[in-house]
Amino acid sequence: MTKGIKDYTHPAGGWDALKAVAGALTDQDTVAKGGRALLDANQPDGFDCPGCAWPDPKHTSSFEFCENGAKAVAWETTSHRATPEVVGAHTVAELWTWSDHDLENLGRLTEPLRYDPATDRFQRASWDEATTAIGAALRALENPNQCEFYASGRASNEAAFLFQTFGRRFGTNNFPDCSNMCHEPTSVGLAEQLGLGKGSVSLEDFDHADCILSFGHNPGTNHPRMMTTLRDAARRGAAILVFNPMRERALEKFASPQDPVEMLTLTGTDIASRYYQLKVGGDVAVLTGLMKLLIERDALDHDFIARHTTGFEALAAHVAAADWAWIEARSGLARADLEEAADIYQRSKAIILCYGMGLTQHRSASSLVQQLVNLLLLGGHIGRPGAGICPLRGHSNVQGDRTVGITEKPSPALLASMQRVFGFAQPTAHGHTVAEAIEAMREGTVKAMIALGGNFAVAAPDPTLTYPALKKLDLTVNIATKLNRTHLLTGKQAWVLPCLGRTEIDVQSGERQSVTVEDSMSMVHASRGMRQPASEHLRSEPWIVARMALATFGEDPHVDWLSLGADYDRVRELIEQVFPDQFGNYNDRIRTPGGFRLPVPTSERVWTTPSGKAAFLPYVADDAAVDDPTRGDPEVLLLTTLRSHDQYNTTIYGLNDRYRGVKGRRDVVFAHADDLAARGISDGDRIDLACAFDGGVERTLKGFTAVVKDMPRGCLAAYYPEANPLLALSERDRRSGTPAYKSMPVRMTKAR
Ligand code: SF4
Repeated sequence: MTKGIKDYTHPAGGWDALKAVAGALTDQDTVAKGGRALLDANQPDGFDCPGCAWPDPKHTSSFEFCENGAKAVAWETTSHRATPEVVGAHTVAELWTWSDHDLENLGRLTEPLRYDPATDRFQRASWDEATTAIGAALRALENPNQCEFYASGRASNEAAFLFQTFGRRFGTNNFPDCSNMCHEPTSVGLAEQLGLGKGSVSLEDFDHADCILSFGHNPGTNHPRMMTTLRDAARRGAAILVFNPMRERALEKFASPQDPVEMLTLTGTDIASRYYQLKVGGDVAVLTGLMKLLIERDALDHDFIARHTTGFEALAAHVAAADWAWIEARSGLARADLEEAADIYQRSKAIILCYGMGLTQHRSASSLVQQLVNLLLLGGHIGRPGAGICPLRGHSNVQGDRTVGITEKPSPALLASMQRVFGFAQPTAHGHTVAEAIEAMREGTVKAMIALGGNFAVAAPDPTLTYPALKKLDLTVNIATKLNRTHLLTGKQAWVLPCLGRTEIDVQSGERQSVTVEDSMSMVHASRGMRQPASEHLRSEPWIVARMALATFGEDPHVDWLSLGADYDRVRELIEQVFPDQFGNYNDRIRTPGGFRLPVPTSERVWTTPSGKAAFLPYVADDAAVDDPTRGDPEVLLLTTLRSHDQYNTTIYGLNDRYRGVKGRRDVVFAHADDLAARGISDGDRIDLACAFDGGVERTLKGFTAVVKDMPRGCLAAYYPEANPLLALSERDRRSGTPAYKSMPVRMTKAR
């Protein structure tokens, strides 16, 4: 038996989840504080969970948090403190050798830090000193496009809106965003096809669906409260069809910690009615096969197609041309499997299709996401109760940040609105995505980056190129709650600015403030921290952005930065003025418990596309010559990245991945036994991986351990971000810029 590997056979959730919550609170020495904070999570007058973007049910119970939400809260309310003395006790070179977990586990940052190149250490600084120096450094740039304004999806609507106002006032649309690394194909693909780059369903729709299709997501780990919704659907007999290369425990069986019967009898509910283990990157073939069958059987909603769509004939011709040999080889599924799934689709009255980053992080992902919508459109399964498309977003406000203007390609309407409200000339040239920002840093055309949260360097692919690119900058500014590796990639001048977390009380000008966030289903609601801040020197993100802007522009005739940083109602008034159709009566409506839903025209079959209809769009590969990432080489395997159950994006809470049976380690690669045997490798052997098409840059992962897993042949899986060094920056969806973290072509050998 390989060290630290043991099959997990319990249902997901259950007692193990409760034990894990207790363990997370104990690890961070925060049982009392963190435990009390959890009671305020996702409550109408409490704080929004800093975890994922799954919506809150209308009737909030006092336990509206999941295991991972609890871990996120424990991580934030930790009693560990990364004071200037604690951080400054080590050189940056020394900190660089620490693990990502150990860096964050130093605890909450307590005061602004300035990097001192002479000693290679961070030192205490004052807020005045920091903002004044940052303002001066920005003014010294030769042109505004030399700065990147990076935002993470943790930022509230208020912080994000001020940040984009800051960037545009400075004169650039350089807004690389964490969305560029996750759901950007949704924003691009769905917007082109339906007029709105967001999901169409609400939480209530799940009560009416009789079929749920699940592609490329693992809700037990990444949005765990969705499990309650799936369990309810399974219990009332809805068909749940899962398409995923690996068997994820929560999609098989789940025990609700809030169900006394399941807890006392140690039983659970079966979730998936069918589990199809397709090949990594095989979704396009599955979707093509399903659509081909439905069209051949004439299992179509002709009335809907005629009244609401364009492009059906082109799609029908496209899928008719696909042959079954290709569909079966590329998907790894037999035609009989797809016939069975098509039968269930055909019988269903209302279908919801859910998908996660297993779909969005591929080459050509914007077009791939459109195939999901095509599948729904064939049966008219969009824009009516119980039916629609449901992208599962990761970070809690990643969708909201986009809504309030964080975009590198602003529409003319957004720029006109900003100009009308603020009166300053808007930059019109498109800015950079994350990948483009890294390329510009490498070329030297970008010289500064301000990061509103996140762990840019670790989240991005290709550290061989990305890390040195950041080190070349003249100015790096990171707004953060904890120290992470990106902060150690110091520019010539480098600042780390500590901010309040979601759980903490935010007082400005003597008044308690709330911020607002938008979940995956377009619900906007207030979030108000209830705990005392980790340090008296912490400042809120809106305050920090406003002070940096003030230091950059001085007295500004167009934006009253000081008052915006001091009263978030004023920020919301401006958001309402810039986006009147979406945020009417913003301040009133967020004071209603539960908040309000932004307009979702697609849920009412209103298509804001140029044709006024939803568009069937056939699959188009970014590069037809190499649509298959293995490029036809049988020695090449496709590696997908995973998050463990003790992880949230780049934050590693611990080294266990309970549901996959991994304990105390992350240096593993899951593989089919035959793929290992074909290379003379046994379970537990040390292996090396290398990027298959490296373009002359060596990208390897050495000394990992092979673990046999039930997965299709030709596929591998390893943890993100450890596997990121295998992915070339150029391997990305051309239209959205999203890196292909879910289909990396690699070669595997036994380690020497
Ligand atoms: S499902 Fe997501 S938002 Fe909800 S408690 Fe869990 S991590 Fe937080």
